[in-house]
Amino acid sequence: MAAAPDVLSRRAALEAYAAETAGCTQCRLAQGRTQVVFGVGDPDADLMFVGEAPGFHEDKQGYPFVGSAGKLLDGLLEGIGLTRNDVYIANVLMCRPPGNRDPQPDEIAACEAHLFRKIELIEPRLIATLGNFATKLLSGKPHGITRVHGRPQEATLGGRRVTLFPIYHPAAALYTPAMLKTLQEDFARIPALLAPQEPAPAPAAVIPFPAVATAVPAQAADEQLGLF
Ligand code: URA
Repeated sequence: MAAAPDVLSRRAALEAYAAETAGCTQCRLAQGRTQVVFGVGDPDADLMFVGEAPGFHEDKQGYPFVGSAGKLLDGLLEGIGLTRNDVYIANVLMCRPPGNRDPQPDEIAACEAHLFRKIELIEPRLIATLGNFATKLLSGKPHGITRVHGRPQEATLGGRRVTLFPIYHPAAALYTPAMLKTLQEDFARIPALLAPQEPAPAPAAVIPFPAVATAVPAQAADEQLGLF
């Protein structure tokens, strides 16, 4: 297996990729955007968040989750002792859909390779998908966020096994304040999901039977079968 790249080469590779995609014209969103919103955070993060698409403020500033949903995300991170510098944040789409409408299937198809490449470069252990679009894209399953939120699932992304952790989009709590409690409960599970796994216990030593015991006479073997 190839050695994991160090943080400097990861950062350089991400920066190079951001420069490569800054002029992307693979879908119609290129026409209305101010700029491509590539992603932000620690290139070496174990935890990556994937949201939906840049909104008005993200499009203007060039960073994901800097508007009101972003403030909520910051608060939820703080609640589990993290800041946005500890994680990497990206979106399914890198360009703002007009009027913040839903991403269209052809726009997702045009942009998904960029998200997969980021995952490949960052190699997170845990990816929290925020809302339906990120959850469906990265799980490859049609199940909606209401059904799957708070339930970790294993996936192979960027050629590696990762844990996907679907969570409601923070904007859900802006529209439905009662959703904040659900978001906080789901966020509260993140530290345990990030904790290093206990090594599996070593297998018990196999003590071979003495040769004589394996040579069971036919009749004795039949009798033994009756035990089960
Ligand atoms: N909503 C998202 O899904 N992403 C952002 O970057 C901002 C709001």
